Amino acid sequence: MGEKIPKFADLSEARNIISLLGKEFAIVHNPSYLFPRFEIYPLAPKISTPRKKLVAVVKDMDGTTTTTEQLCLHSQEYMIGQITGRWGDPTWKGLDKVNDYPHIIGNSTTRHVEYLINKYGKFIKMENFRKSYLTAILWTLSRGKDEGRKREVRNNMVALGWGNMLTDNEFLTIITKQNFEENRHQKEIKHLLQKYRQFFHPEDFTDKVRAAIDIYYYRYHQILSLIDKGEGKRLSKELLHEEGRRLIEPMPGVEIFLSLIKGWLGEDLALFYEELAEDLINSPYVSYTKKELDKFRKRLAPLGRYFSMHPIKVGIVTSSIAYEANVVLKEVFRVAYERISNWKIPSEKKEKILENFSDYKKLYDSIITANDSSEIRLKPHHDLYSMALHEMGVSKDEFPFVIGFEDSESGTIALRAAGIGLCIALPFTGTSGHDFTAATHIIWGGLPEVILVNNLFLDPSVLKNFE
Ligand SMILES: [Mg+2]
Repeated sequence: MGEKIPKFADLSEARNIISLLGKEFAIVHNPSYLFPRFEIYPLAPKISTPRKKLVAVVKDMDGTTTTTEQLCLHSQEYMIGQITGRWGDPTWKGLDKVNDYPHIIGNSTTRHVEYLINKYGKFIKMENFRKSYLTAILWTLSRGKDEGRKREVRNNMVALGWGNMLTDNEFLTIITKQNFEENRHQKEIKHLLQKYRQFFHPEDFTDKVRAAIDIYYYRYHQILSLIDKGEGKRLSKELLHEEGRRLIEPMPGVEIFLSLIKGWLGEDLALFYEELAEDLINSPYVSYTKKELDKFRKRLAPLGRYFSMHPIKVGIVTSSIAYEANVVLKEVFRVAYERISNWKIPSEKKEKILENFSDYKKLYDSIITANDSSEIRLKPHHDLYSMALHEMGVSKDEFPFVIGFEDSESGTIALRAAGIGLCIALPFTGTSGHDFTAATHIIWGGLPEVILVNNLFLDPSVLKNFE
């Protein structure tokens, strides 16, 4: 483009300039405390023709690589239950699966909490709100593991009128001991509330959201810290009420997918035909018959050979903060490691794959979390994906040979806004109601379908060379 682009423009010039950027745009609404109300992003044109080569994959964590949405939903429900005084009330049905879930999954925490405060704010009981907020503060500053989170909690205390508590001796004694427990510290909580009750004044919507976010993260991190200690199995049973399920586990096909694109499986990908086909046959969202899937079987070995000749880079991009991503990915890779140990593939190959799965940091070429940016620049903004692509050394000319995988509306927008035209939505139970207008393809069968049926969108003529 040879046009001279000015640095400032009036409305009509701005219209012309924007039209140079593309034909399709996403309007991203900002949190209430930001100027401007929204931002307009040009989206990379969708790419739906098969690819002659691939250079990289960028992929979301929650809902795409792993399922932690159960944990997020639980923590949001806990927060609303606490501030409205209904937590533990057997007649309270909790959040509404049909009407609430589409608004509280897959977006940023701020957006989720804004939605919930908007809807349930009128039921807030100030006594309960104060107490649960103080409990969240004490736990986070006493036992929390993330410094950024602690900083935010302190900032919020100042903003909400509790800044003086930060130098209160009683308060400091609790947090420096680093062993706060809600049940054991009831007396101290009560006493602090008596002293500071009158100063807590979450007047407007934004203030309520600030405090509610701290309560949400308290619950979320409290559970993560227990999972990190190896209590994932017990907690999963307690909170999910379902045998065999885990609060954090890999999405179907993740370990096969990663081993494939890194070139470690080679033609032995064909050994996973039954497993991939079974996943698709059992999926509630697609209706393949065994006979239909059998047609795709013969392409698995060439696909595996292609990647062993042309392994690609893989980046994981999450709006979660680094502490969360670390606990979650450690647990995902622990489960994946166990599964790979049972694979029936040549032992030398298996050893190599296990070695690479022993630490998630070894496997990924880029790991981008919310800590690399700021809460106000998370998905659907393009920043996190742009950072991953840059970190992996993928140039703009190569963007057409990158596949992006996401399970949410905001994630698919972020991918296209980062320049990825081959944007694949992999919806799952939690995000199946999302608007996937930004996605190039919606693959309801998840990664098993991407591998077995779509062959990672590679041109069949390319695979022919590897038969
Ligand atoms: Mg997600």
